[in-house]
Amino acid sequence: MTDAVVLGASMGGLLAARALVGFYDRITVVDRDPLPADAGHRRGVPQARHFHTILLRGKEALDDMFPGLTGDLVAEGAIPVGFNADARFVLAGHTMVRAVTGASDIQATRPMLEGAVRARLADLPGVKLVPGCDVLGPIVEHGRVTGVKVSRDGTEEVLRADLVIDAMGRSGRARSWLESLGLPTPAEDRIDVNMVYASRLVRPATPFPDKLVLVGPVPGRPTGFAFAAQEHGQWMVTQVGMAGDHPPTDESGYLAFLKRSAPPDVQDAVAASEPLTEIRTHRFPASLRRRYERLRRFPPGLLVFGDAMCSFNPIYGQGMTVAAMESEALRKCLRDGDTDLARRFFRAAGKIIDPVWQLNALGDLALPEIVGHRSVATKALNRYVARLQRVAEHDPVAATAFIRTIGLLQPPSAILRPDVLARVVMGGRRHT
Ligand SMILES: Cc1cc2nc3c(=O)[nH]c(=O)nc-3n(C[C@H](O)[C@H](O)[C@H](O)COP(=O)(O)OP(=O)(O)OC[C@H]3O[C@@H](n4cnc5c(N)ncnc54)[C@H](O)[C@@H]3O)c2cc1C
Repeated sequence: MTDAVVLGASMGGLLAARALVGFYDRITVVDRDPLPADAGHRRGVPQARHFHTILLRGKEALDDMFPGLTGDLVAEGAIPVGFNADARFVLAGHTMVRAVTGASDIQATRPMLEGAVRARLADLPGVKLVPGCDVLGPIVEHGRVTGVKVSRDGTEEVLRADLVIDAMGRSGRARSWLESLGLPTPAEDRIDVNMVYASRLVRPATPFPDKLVLVGPVPGRPTGFAFAAQEHGQWMVTQVGMAGDHPPTDESGYLAFLKRSAPPDVQDAVAASEPLTEIRTHRFPASLRRRYERLRRFPPGLLVFGDAMCSFNPIYGQGMTVAAMESEALRKCLRDGDTDLARRFFRAAGKIIDPVWQLNALGDLALPEIVGHRSVATKALNRYVARLQRVAEHDPVAATAFIRTIGLLQPPSAILRPDVLARVVMGGRRHT
């Protein structure tokens, strides 16, 4: 019998566990929290009270790992969204032309999505979810991780495993475990954004024409928001402020802050809507990438996954999509056997993360309010992206290239393809 233990049962842990099905006889997924039977909230995932989007590539990967998942979610109330016929994107102050890609996505609250993934995973052979289980530390024998020590109901237990995966989020412990074992720790890349999210669910007083309105920050105003249809007639209002320019949580202050970035119809819709929840905040200090792929020594029997490896600036909505892509990559690595698994998986994950981190850095460093080194290439690319966004107001080719790139369906280099470049340089042809 082979055993794997996944530490953390949030989207990262659930997707890591999915990749293991068929390769390990028993897959135990532990979490400190009680795990709700349905789509409830829990302490370990406070970000779930804020707008969560799955990118276009993430939808593909989720359906790859859980066939039929997003269709089932729509049947259960999630909102199908045509990209971008149903979505209004205002990026760097430019409203993007509609009806561009023909692709579609879904919108649902994070608890609904996570609940559905958790339920599907629990039905797979060999999988067991164990809530109320606090991870204390690894068991290491002859340099190999052979299990993990946990505390359940105040009692310490050892879970033996051939593979242990740290999917405990930004606070993932693998880095400090390496340190305590006297092993090299991964270098960390960091982009400080000093951001606060402030969100609530509302019910609009009258039907709203778009299913999603997304307004990004602009130089001089590092704030933005999302107004997004969710299951069962609820809408998520999420406001964000970077570089210390944070949204207030009192009623009048919240609406006043919205006026800084939202178009008048959204301001009116939010002001007239019925609040369904309190305004909740979430602080996000910095994007953080741990370079496990660069380590020469790493104990066999251990992997790191999801936000524990890289936690992205959430305004770009990439974390769950990257976790789903890592899940596909881990399954592929396991198909090739388990020899040298950590090195092969970290290298594959690094290739997934590299372009996403680049997009993050590019977006953040376009704002003068964000402190960080801007190379000549970064400055030139950001001038190009600013022009592309302007052209995408009326040019469907430019808009499609941009949407498919930020949706991670294609690499960042795709916005430099000759057909796109020509339109951006020429200022784009008007689409009539
Ligand atoms: C405000 C905000 C908005 C976001 N919006 C988006 C978005 O729009 N789209 C998107 O794709 N991503 C978004 N993200 C990122 C996304 O939430 C994460 O990428 C995603 O949850 C995957 O993370 P994870 O599972 O690796 O870690 P986490 O979600 O942080 O989960 C860690 C898990 O580990 C458990 N745990 C921690 N310590 C222990 C312990 N000692 N013992 C046992 N269990 C433990 C916790 O209970 C939790 O279940 C957002 C993040 C934030 C903060």
